[in-house]
Amino acid sequence: MKIYILTDLEGVAGVARWDQTGRDTPGYPQAVRLMTEELRACVAGIQAAEAEAEIWVWDAHGPGAIDVERFPRGAKLLNNGPVPTSGFMDATFDALFFLGQHSKAGTRNGNLAHSYSSLSIERIRINGIELGEFGCRAAYAGTLGVPTVFVSGDDTMMAEAKALVPGIYGAQVKVALGPQVALHLAPEDARDLIRAVAEEATANAGSVVPFVLPGPPYEQEITIWARTDPATYLARGFEQTGARTFVKCAERLEALMI
Ligand SMILES: [Zn+2]
Repeated sequence: MKIYILTDLEGVAGVARWDQTGRDTPGYPQAVRLMTEELRACVAGIQAAEAEAEIWVWDAHGPGAIDVERFPRGAKLLNNGPVPTSGFMDATFDALFFLGQHSKAGTRNGNLAHSYSSLSIERIRINGIELGEFGCRAAYAGTLGVPTVFVSGDDTMMAEAKALVPGIYGAQVKVALGPQVALHLAPEDARDLIRAVAEEATANAGSVVPFVLPGPPYEQEITIWARTDPATYLARGFEQTGARTFVKCAERLEALMI
């Protein structure tokens, strides 16, 4: 069995403020430790169900969020860096896991909710369906036939994931009470939950249907904030269709990954 874990930082228990997520922010070193321990729990859960599982982990938070010295044995790390937006995922994987994920931009109370760039993107739609980072990447995995079977994060992330992937296994480690406020599980309780849910998700991965968008073709519409420079999107092949909206079409979803 081959499993792909995509990690982020904003959906980790104990992390809820922007001053914890940037490389030079005061809370970052602790947030990285919290993420890495959740990762160890997630890998342990997978290995409890499938001792020989081949596990890839992509450290996909902007500046990275994994303490490599505590990276779990038996898994393989795709380090934070110049990784293509596909994350080297292919059809040989049996399941995709999202660990520490946040809800999409505009989510009410969503903890650190954003879609790729909190400073520039207000909303992303593909073929009329509003998607955040979870949805875009789960849809890409779906084009490869890979089901998205696990997600951890706050309650708004659980709701977003379950709306797109009804059978997904969710580990809710906090309740979002505002964009930068949450009611968190104790870190060790969050890890126990993640381990248990990851084990269950691995054992039942075959029962989760891949998330597939209607298409091809695919039409991506991005709404930017008024302060964002449109030139960025025009340079990337988007066509401007409104004061703040840009559209790009493609036959392959991979071409629309951000
Ligand atoms: Zn992130």
